[in-house]
Amino acid sequence: MQFTVAIDGPAAAGKGTIARAVADEFGFAHLDTGLLYRAVGARAMMRGRGVIVPAIATEVAKELSEADLRHEGLRTARIAQAASKVAALPEVRAALLAFQKDFARREGGAVLDGRDIGSVICPEAEVKIFVTASDEVRAKRRFEELRAKNPDTRLESVAIDLRQRDIRDASRDVAPMVAAEDALLLDTSELSIDAAVAEAVALIKQRFGKA
Ligand code: C5P
Repeated sequence: MQFTVAIDGPAAAGKGTIARAVADEFGFAHLDTGLLYRAVGARAMMRGRGVIVPAIATEVAKELSEADLRHEGLRTARIAQAASKVAALPEVRAALLAFQKDFARREGGAVLDGRDIGSVICPEAEVKIFVTASDEVRAKRRFEELRAKNPDTRLESVAIDLRQRDIRDASRDVAPMVAAEDALLLDTSELSIDAAVAEAVALIKQRFGKA
């Protein structure tokens, strides 16, 4: 059985939490595609001695393996910025395309979360959800997450990081962040995690019956 759930949206809107919960509920495989770009960004920065060089980033993307995604250190604001820069390079996106497409159509069902899953990676996904939340709510959520790891984290700099990435991700030429026409819009600004997950699960059950 092939069944793909595509969950897109800006950073800290709740898509990762929803994707993981949905994968658990239905026994689907889950891929956080942001990790691909984070891993490429982190390695490209290292090899470029702090600078993103497009040719190096493309080389790194071609060599990327699943093991590279399992590094704990990928969830920092610095690596998020590097990810957003390499993600604007068409060659990097092209190098990561086949892996994501194969993952989406694997047997047994798959949930992928990112920015372009419903629009580019899997336009034929059975379920597409675009998760949003207000800028303030997203900044606060990401601030709480990062502060748990680093007490020096500042709300203002988290808000700036999100804003910069939103603008870069939504305005790039290739695969910009966009809600697919047939995506369900889920605004989690005032929803609890349980309520947001329940909405996603209900939609999937409804489509599951038809798939
Ligand atoms: O989701 P996360 O914040 O981990 O993503 C990091 C960056 O990777 C995003 O800001 C975006 O630039 C990029 N990305 C992307 N396409 C995806 C997933 C992430 O361009 N499908």
